[in-house]
Amino acid sequence: QPPSVLVLGMAGSGKTTFVQRLTAYLHARNTPPYVINLDPAVAQVPYPVNIDIRDTVKYKEVMKEYGLGPNGAIITCLNLMCTRFDQVISMIKKRSDQFPVCLIDTPGQIEAFTWSASGSIITDSLASSHPTVVIYDQAPIYRCFFNKADIVRPTFALRWMTDFERFDEALEDSRSSYMNDLSRSLSLVLDEFYCGLKTVCVSSLTGEGFDDVMKAVEESVEIYKKEYVPMYEKVL
Ligand code: GDP
Ligand code: MG
Repeated sequence: QPPSVLVLGMAGSGKTTFVQRLTAYLHARNTPPYVINLDPAVAQVPYPVNIDIRDTVKYKEVMKEYGLGPNGAIITCLNLMCTRFDQVISMIKKRSDQFPVCLIDTPGQIEAFTWSASGSIITDSLASSHPTVVIYDQAPIYRCFFNKADIVRPTFALRWMTDFERFDEALEDSRSSYMNDLSRSLSLVLDEFYCGLKTVCVSSLTGEGFDDVMKAVEESVEIYKKEYVPMYEKVL
């Protein structure tokens, strides 16, 4: 079964544009992806979509009906979608011989997905059914995976991510402040965290880097098979 790719990232980091560009890239190679939109609040989906959360739950009505603000309504929509996610998985499975990858766009606010029960249920049910990869969209202006590489070359941040010494050197100037100590200890944690991540620089504007994205997805699927599956089987 082809992998599912969950595209996560902060609001405005470029998830939807990335899915749009990757979809166009795959269409141009005559291998169109299966595409799912899980953002109930998006006004327009700029790519051909196979499953759209907006067909199942109406964000504005949920807001009114339950008297919720924007974030509460997004989480409630995800919860409602989550109760039917087994159907989504069977739909993906039914068509699995027809696409190389299933792309999943997620809500603008990353917390709605990563800090919600439905976000983990959706992720876990995908990962227990077939290879699942997370692409974390990170625009270099915020300071893995860097898109909008056309604006700022994120090489400095890439170096920080993979080389703790460099990040430490960058902090050298104002050694004694509290913030600096905090950054220093944070950098140790990040060093540990980022070491295991693959990073790719892409621009959804120019289209640069998308060959590398597909390569990184393939490599991640191998890691899924080697590391996640045995771990999962052990838990079961
Ligand atoms: P989302 O909230 O994560 O889905 O972000 P969007 O895909 O809606 O993008 C937010 C803004 O960033 C839009 O104005 C996009 O045109 C812009 N954007 C997205 N990707 C890129 C990129 O690679 N380069 C540049 N320069 N802008 C981008
Ligand atoms: Mg979006």
